[in-house]
Amino acid sequence: MKYLLTGGTGYIGSHTVVELLELGHEVVILDNLANSSVKVLERVEKICGKRPAFVEGNICNRDDLDKVFTAHQIEAVVHFAGLKAVGESNQIPLSYYHNNVSGSVTLFQAMSDHNVKKLVFSSSATVYGENNVSPLDESMPTSATNPYGQTKLMIENILVDLAKSDSDWSIINLRYFNPIGAHASGLIGENPNGIPNNLLPYVAQVAVGRLAELNVFGDDYDTPDGTGVRDYIHVVDLAQGHVKALEKIDAHNGCHAINLGTGNGTSVLQIVESFKRVSGRDIPFKIAPRRAGDIATVFAHADKAAKALNWQAKLDLNAMIEDTWRWQSNNPNGYE
Ligand code: NAD
Ligand code: UDP
Repeated sequence: MKYLLTGGTGYIGSHTVVELLELGHEVVILDNLANSSVKVLERVEKICGKRPAFVEGNICNRDDLDKVFTAHQIEAVVHFAGLKAVGESNQIPLSYYHNNVSGSVTLFQAMSDHNVKKLVFSSSATVYGENNVSPLDESMPTSATNPYGQTKLMIENILVDLAKSDSDWSIINLRYFNPIGAHASGLIGENPNGIPNNLLPYVAQVAVGRLAELNVFGDDYDTPDGTGVRDYIHVVDLAQGHVKALEKIDAHNGCHAINLGTGNGTSVLQIVESFKRVSGRDIPFKIAPRRAGDIATVFAHADKAAKALNWQAKLDLNAMIEDTWRWQSNNPNGYE
């Protein structure tokens, strides 16, 4: 099968490219390199012995999309492309609504016009908002607390309407929890621009000496050690969840939301301790004020993915941190 991966040179996209190529599928990437490096392609080739087709282009540009759908017989689309920094989305909301929401609508229209109606969309646990109690399951009410989260929720709702309007559409909204880790080869991994917003890349950069110390955002939450608890999931498990979702949409239609998480929660201090042990490096940290918008505990109810996709996360926290450390220590400056 030939799949189009928008945002396929990014962190989660590149790991999904590897899983698909290794299964013998063909992959076309459309990415404008807003938050990724073209060097990912040679790294992917080193891992799989194959190179995906790459088109540098923008999902907001209908011509770019038409060129891809005309040149390639695409079976289904995995839509990763989007801006993802929560803090930045508060500062430049219009860029987020334009890139993520308008770009997605342009993509879906192009898909419809080229009669490609199978889609896996990168949604997020952020659509559960702040009022639900973990474990979070797919039947809970959704809401958003920032423009980034709004874009995910809007796109999910657009896709629900689209599937209602035309029963040929087959769509899965995958709600990711907290992807971390890297491919076991150490050749591809997360490569954030500037100072990382997320915990794992920040901790990894402290361990490697690029950043001086970690700020732990709050130690007075109602959690076992007072620090925030999240459901960290290995990016390779996540990538394999996409393979299962592509198999599923091939056989059924409608629009479904499915969590990709492990169902386990880990605190910030547990992450710091594990990282210290695995890396053998000190991770200096200080307790800082809570970060606005954070909630104490977020973890998934993971049963629906097990039943609907026959998928469950296999890799444990140790593997997640070992692989993060291998990637970070082999590539202290990312792909540069
Ligand atoms: P990433 O930034 O590494 O990858 C996104 C890719 O999309 C980048 O390569 C970027 O260059 C590309 N892109 C952005 N706008 C584009 C546009 N208009 N046209 C073409 N390409 C464009 O991010 P990621 O961590 O791999 O996340 C992938 C998707 O998963 C995103 O939609 C993100 O919101 C979602 N998600 C990520 C997380 C996470 O913690 N990483 C959690 C939940 C959901
Ligand atoms: N966190 C932290 N210091 C940082 C970054 C994150 O203490 O520099 C905490 C954050 O408060 C949360 C957890 O780590 O409890 C995961 O944060 P991240 O931004 O990675 O994911 P999200 O909050 O979006 O789930």
